[in-house]
Amino acid sequence: MDQDIKKLIDDAKSATLAGKAVNRDALKKFLDLDPLSEETEYLGAAARDIARSIGNKGKVWSAIGVDYRPCTMNCEFCSFGEKWKLMNDSHELTDEEIIKNAIGFVNQGASWVTLRTTEFFDLNRLCNIAKKIRKEVAGDYGLVVNTGEFDLNMANKFAESGIDIVYHTLRLGEGKATPFDPKDRIRTINAVRDSPMKLAYLVEPLGPEHTSQEIMDVLSVALDNNAFLCGSMARVNIANTPFEGSKEVDEDRLAQVVAVTRIAGGINMPEICVHPPSEKALRYGANVMVVEKGAIPRSETECCDDWKGFRIEDAKKMFREAGYSI
Ligand code: SF4
Repeated sequence: MDQDIKKLIDDAKSATLAGKAVNRDALKKFLDLDPLSEETEYLGAAARDIARSIGNKGKVWSAIGVDYRPCTMNCEFCSFGEKWKLMNDSHELTDEEIIKNAIGFVNQGASWVTLRTTEFFDLNRLCNIAKKIRKEVAGDYGLVVNTGEFDLNMANKFAESGIDIVYHTLRLGEGKATPFDPKDRIRTINAVRDSPMKLAYLVEPLGPEHTSQEIMDVLSVALDNNAFLCGSMARVNIANTPFEGSKEVDEDRLAQVVAVTRIAGGINMPEICVHPPSEKALRYGANVMVVEKGAIPRSETECCDDWKGFRIEDAKKMFREAGYSI
C-alpha cells in the first residue's frame, strides 16, 4: 500500500472525527485512486469506521413522487423531460394517497418521508400537504421536500408548515446536461442554509465520465452549505433520453465516492446515503438507503409501488448484514 496515501487517509479520519474540515486536495486524491486498489479498500474501511463511531444506525429515506407530468426543463437524465415523450398523461396523487403512503412508510420505520415533485409544482400546495401529513401521520420522522427553486421566504414558509428538510443539489453536469444556471441552484441551496431547514444533498447523477474535480466541485457545495446528509446517487440511463446507451457508473466507483463523502463530512454530516442500494457502499460508510413510490424520474414508466421492488424490509436486512443497527 502507498504509505503516503495511508497517512493521508488516517489524518483525514482523525480530523473529520474531531469535527475539523478535511483538506480538499486530499479528498480529490482519494477520488483519484483506482476504485479497485488496496488504498481505496483502506479508504472504505476508514469511512465505515467513521460511520460506526457516529451512531452506526442504518436508516431509510422514503420518497413519494407526488406529480407525474412532463417537465419543460428537459434535464437529459430525467424521464419527466417533455422532449423525451415518455409520458402519455399527467396527474398528481391526491392528499389522501400521499398520506396513506406516508403512514405506510413511517409505520415500517422510515426515518424520513420525502415529497418529491417536478420543477414547477405549486409550493403552496406542498405546504398544505405537509401540514396535513403532520396532523395525520404520527411518529418521529423528518418531513422532506424535493422540489423546484425557491427563496428564503418560501424556505421559512416550509418550516412553518412542518417541513424540516429540503433535498436540493447542484447536479453533476449542471448547465450542460440540464438547462439550469448553476447560480440559481446555489441560490436555493443558500436559502435552505439560511433558514431553519436542514439540507440533504447527494452527489448525483453520477456517471463513469465524471472526473474527480467535477465530483469535488459538487461535493464542495454540500460542505459549504452545511448539508447534514450527503452521499451519492448513480445515474440511470433511460431509453429515449439523451443518455440512452451511455455507460453507467459501476458499484466500485459509486462506493468510492460514497466513502469520500463520509470522510469529507465526518461528525458534521452524520447521514450518508447511497442510491441505488449497494452492499459495497454500506461497507464503505453509507448508512442511508432510499425506498420510493409514485412518479420516479429514473423510471421509464410510472412506478406505483416500490421502485425496483426494493422495500423497507429489504433495506433493513441489508443494514443488519452490514453490521448497522436499525
Ligand atoms: S430533473 Fe427536475 S427539473 Fe429536470 S426535467 Fe426532471 S423534473 Fe424537470
